[in-house]
Amino acid sequence: MPRSSKDDIMILNRKTWIYILTLAIVLVIFVFFFVFNRPEPYIVKDEIILGTYVRVVVGSDKNPNAIMDSMIREMKRIEKKFSSTIADSIISKINQNGKNITEIDQETRFVIERSLAIADITNGAFDPAMGRIIKLWGFDRISEPDFTPFVPSDGQILQALSHCGYKNIEISKEGIYLKNDVQLDLGAIAKGYAIDRAVQVAKEMDSSCTGYVDAGGDIGIIGPKFGGAKWVVAVKNPRGESSTDFVRYVQIDQGAIVTSGDYERYFEAGGRRYHHIFDPATGKPAEGTISSTIIAQTAMDADALSTAAFVLGPRYSVQIMPSLGGQGFFMDTAEKEYLTDGWSYFDIDEK
Ligand code: ADP
Ligand code: MG
Repeated sequence: MPRSSKDDIMILNRKTWIYILTLAIVLVIFVFFFVFNRPEPYIVKDEIILGTYVRVVVGSDKNPNAIMDSMIREMKRIEKKFSSTIADSIISKINQNGKNITEIDQETRFVIERSLAIADITNGAFDPAMGRIIKLWGFDRISEPDFTPFVPSDGQILQALSHCGYKNIEISKEGIYLKNDVQLDLGAIAKGYAIDRAVQVAKEMDSSCTGYVDAGGDIGIIGPKFGGAKWVVAVKNPRGESSTDFVRYVQIDQGAIVTSGDYERYFEAGGRRYHHIFDPATGKPAEGTISSTIIAQTAMDADALSTAAFVLGPRYSVQIMPSLGGQGFFMDTAEKEYLTDGWSYFDIDEK
């Protein structure tokens, strides 16, 4: 018996429904495939450079792996060039030559001249000619397995301190030489310069590259997150129980943020903490600060200024750092927090 036309319509409807359903399932599978299988927007690599854990995060449509490799190579090059403990570095050469002139290239001149300028504007709180004090306390060897904590006598400190001071660095067209037996140590600025160079290399290879370089908490931004959003950077609690205990969160999409703390490199002796940031006025670990963070246009300036602010102390630093190009967050020994006026622009909680 022929089926009624009503039945035909129902069958047709059922077929159409099965067709639509199949299409929808295929579509959902496609969408899931594309959403979850999209290439990661960033590639990430961890390395140990400049005596610290370095994380490089790169987002680029061009060749992120080549950019990443070039950045890491550049940082290693700078470490070798400006370390005072690597025998054939330019810094070791200048230190060995002492009062005899050493010829220097443009890049070395740039880093040393910026060091001298920051020494000047911080009244010598940041001093690139503290090599004798740093060596006396042994902080150049603290990561070596045979390092034994040593607290020098006041006599030894005064003796070393009499051969310190950036005013003994003479730089001219011919090159550089050191008066009064001082020794260079760029430990408080070279890491910042290395971060800047890595960022520059990334931008040279792809002007729309994004990502960041994090060298032990000192961060240089290549470009904003996903090309538009700001990165959230956390400032460590200097007395935190774990490495994920933070006191501040800031948002930045360019420039750099660098922290100097008394918890990074230190030893304890006789119930006291001796850390690696020295007050050039005393030759002893600077007192009064436990953490000093600077946000600046370059990691190099942020690095040197954060060390200077650590020495100068929170009360004074909070006043002067903005005029030197840095916004800052500082903590004193009572764990009281100090923020420069411009800091709130970056701080997530202060907004
Ligand atoms: P970190 O290297 O832990 O990031 P800093 O940037 O503050 O910390 O640099 C500290 C290093 O700088 C020390 O290990 C030492 O080599 C050097 N240094 C210590 N005190 C001073 C100072 N007052 N001025 C310039 N360099 C310093
Ligand atoms: Mg520094």
